[in-house]
Amino acid sequence: MSYTENGEFSFSHENIQQDFSLLTSALDASISGIIITDNQLPDNPIIYCNRAFELMTGYIRKEIIGHNCRFLQREDRNQQVREKLREDISAGKHSIVEIRNYKKDGTLFWNELYVSPIKNKDGVTTHFIGVQNDVTRRKKAEQELERERELIEKKVIERTERLKASQDYMDSIVQTVRESLIVLDRDYRVLSVNEHFLRTFKVNKAETEGKLLYELGNGQWNIEALKELLEKVLPTNNPVLDFEVEHDFPHIGNKLMLLNAHRIELEGEYKDRILLAIEDITDRRAIERRKDDFLSIASHELKTPLTTIKGYIQMMNRFMPDTATDKFKEIVAKTGQFVERLSNLISELLDVSRIQTGNMELHRKMFDFDEMINETVDGIQSASKTHQIIIKGTKLGNYYGDESHLIQVINNLLSNAIKYAPNTETVELHKSLVSDFLKVSVIDKGMGISHDEQKKIFERFYRVSEIQTKYPGMGIGLYVCDQIIKNHGGTLWVDSEKGKGSNFSFTLPLKERAEND
Ligand code: ADP
Repeated sequence: MSYTENGEFSFSHENIQQDFSLLTSALDASISGIIITDNQLPDNPIIYCNRAFELMTGYIRKEIIGHNCRFLQREDRNQQVREKLREDISAGKHSIVEIRNYKKDGTLFWNELYVSPIKNKDGVTTHFIGVQNDVTRRKKAEQELERERELIEKKVIERTERLKASQDYMDSIVQTVRESLIVLDRDYRVLSVNEHFLRTFKVNKAETEGKLLYELGNGQWNIEALKELLEKVLPTNNPVLDFEVEHDFPHIGNKLMLLNAHRIELEGEYKDRILLAIEDITDRRAIERRKDDFLSIASHELKTPLTTIKGYIQMMNRFMPDTATDKFKEIVAKTGQFVERLSNLISELLDVSRIQTGNMELHRKMFDFDEMINETVDGIQSASKTHQIIIKGTKLGNYYGDESHLIQVINNLLSNAIKYAPNTETVELHKSLVSDFLKVSVIDKGMGISHDEQKKIFERFYRVSEIQTKYPGMGIGLYVCDQIIKNHGGTLWVDSEKGKGSNFSFTLPLKERAEND
């Protein structure tokens, strides 16, 4: 074989045989499968195949030569690429297709097939050369990639739909809630408001949406303290709770509004949004005030005739004739006791109304705390036949505070301990000095208080529901105690387990004593 002047190669007649076998071994060395078909014979049979073709297809030479190449497709004949192949070939052009072929053992392989026609000098296609490469692995990777892409696309669509659904869901809640709601972006600009908001503030969407919260109306929300709280909502996820705004609002006049703000999050989206809920509590507060006023007036009105009755009972005792029967004496004594109880209840009610109106005054003076405790315990002990009160702990010394108020606290805690521990015999009062505080604990082994109820029992008029009918009381005692301790700069709390008993403790700062000793 040699090259001509213009770069083509040609066979020399002398050693044509040698050149031919050289070419054959070159073709056999190729890693691509190569075949030659003879287009001039019927059904365009394969007249040559190289070694790589045998390896690629699993067929051996004698099973290949003489066959049309369609055997590689087996029954899988409806491949569109065959159409393209046919068109190219009949137009005398070369063609490249990726076609599904099958090995002798039936396994599918993707064949990247290059077919090139060979023409004689008259332009008639005499042969075809087919070069094939097994691209199954690449094809598989491509298909997997495609599948992955489709999957991701499907997921994105699903997620978008889900988000849309949850946003619609949220929108419908926002619109249904009977409270004014504003959704703010991270710059405190109003993204949306609900119908209730528009109705309450007598405004329209155009005046509201897109505006800064602080620009709304006549600047009603432009409050430094509110700004500070709102700025913390997004970065710290700390909500704004029960922030009160009293303001002369445009269109609706003077109102008291209660604000609550939370960060909203929808499946990890919209993290940078704030939901601001505004409740008009003007009427509620007015009703509460009226109720407090009523409480105050009623207890005052009750107290006056009661004081007179108390005076008459004292007089009855003083002027009791010697001839009076024991029965009569007992009736007068009982009347005195019940009037005293009534008087205490009314005093408690008065305390509540004083706390409500901020009129609970402290009358501080120096007194002996231990003596005060001893006397109070003695008083309760003499009235209780069922329980023994045991005082433990250290001496507390003098204290500068409102003695009668603190007596009230000890009284209340001890009476409760006895009342709510009916099947026990002892109640303990423990005194200690902790750092610069004095601490008193009243411990019973009674019915205890569940965790949920523990938070509520210090609210006024709150009583644990299951005991309401069994034990007398108004649910005021602990509320008043809490206020008294707070007024002294201390804290009152409970540790309790349902069914096991309760430990009510309070601390009072000793600072006052040091300053005044
Ligand atoms: P009252 O005793 O008049 O109901 P309080 O304010 O003193 O009102 O107490 C509130 C509630 O707390 C009581 O109704 C009771 O349910 C609960 N409670 C108070 N002290 C105890 C205690 N030592 N053990 C169990 N429950 C208690």
